[in-house]
Amino acid sequence: MEKLDLYKVLEVSKEASQDEIRRSYRRLARKYHPDANPGDKHAEDRFKEIQHAYEVLSKPEKRREYDEGPRTFFGAGPGQGRTAGADFEDFSDLLGGFGNLGDVFGRSTSTTERSPAKGENITVNVRLNFKDALNGVTTRVGVPVEEACGECGGVGAAPGTSPRTCPECDGRGVQNRDQGFFALSTPCSRCGGEGRIIEKPCKVCGGNGRVRRTRQVKVRIAAGAREKMKVRIPGRGNAGKRGGPAGDLYVVTRVEEHPVFRRRGDDFVVEVPVSFVEAALGARIEVPRPGGGTVKLKLPAGTQDGKQFKVRGAGAPKAKTDGGEKGDLIVRVGVVVPKKLKRREREILEALADERDEDVREDLFKKVGSS
Ligand SMILES: [Zn+2]
Ligand SMILES: [Zn+2]
Repeated sequence: MEKLDLYKVLEVSKEASQDEIRRSYRRLARKYHPDANPGDKHAEDRFKEIQHAYEVLSKPEKRREYDEGPRTFFGAGPGQGRTAGADFEDFSDLLGGFGNLGDVFGRSTSTTERSPAKGENITVNVRLNFKDALNGVTTRVGVPVEEACGECGGVGAAPGTSPRTCPECDGRGVQNRDQGFFALSTPCSRCGGEGRIIEKPCKVCGGNGRVRRTRQVKVRIAAGAREKMKVRIPGRGNAGKRGGPAGDLYVVTRVEEHPVFRRRGDDFVVEVPVSFVEAALGARIEVPRPGGGTVKLKLPAGTQDGKQFKVRGAGAPKAKTDGGEKGDLIVRVGVVVPKKLKRREREILEALADERDEDVREDLFKKVGSS
């Protein structure tokens, strides 16, 4: 057996992306599909090669194996080496196992529709006030959910009856017509691709097998929850179809903003006004703390407007540790210049005016002069 270059078979380069491989495969599969080339043995062989090459190259793991040592796939010796197309017993088998049709036509096939399917995931928001987000809370959220119908057990058929295989398509969900290649994928018109027919639909769910209701789900929000944090609750989404598992529930936190404390990661930022006297002389001030109480902060003399101070451990609990660790409180001081002065203040400041005013801009003019 001559070794096949799978990349050549799919007419792509060795560096081709998965997307390129897929596109090329689709194009070639359409071109060489036996239905499009009745009785053409060459096209049939080519089609098998293409199928096989895609089998390998479309799966990153298999592709890597192939890239590293093609022998795993071809001519490794009797009983081990697989030749191109050897995966398929004969041609009818190939058509029967047409799970790849979706890849050819870019949509899912009815094969997947008929097998058990996981229920859809659901995403709901939970609104938290500042305190609850900070301290953590156990709350309930209403989740609009599709549940398995209790009346028919999710089957969709009225109790005492059961669905029967669709006679039109023999349960395959697709209709085979002899009009050529594209007719192959037509979903069965009788059963809508489900492969089965419910003659007496369940009265509660109307044959759907699922009913919609609002379920109250208890959610535990860790201390220190941030805005748009996602909490996954497995198995609390929509019920599965045809016996498949339920989907998951995602609860997304929406945290009310605080008028004073701004969240920055696990830190909080608070803007604190200080008088220009405090800034100039230095002072001990009290600043509010998220969650209540205050912390003391020592301002050094000569504190500039906009200067930030870090109070370690006074920030938000870290949600990852459920409050085991805390972020910091960042205090940003804003120097307030009084709009009105008392008489004594005015006198003192006027006494200073002559000496200080030009000094302030000395640096500025120095820089202008030297540039
Ligand atoms: Zn049918
Ligand atoms: Zn029902």
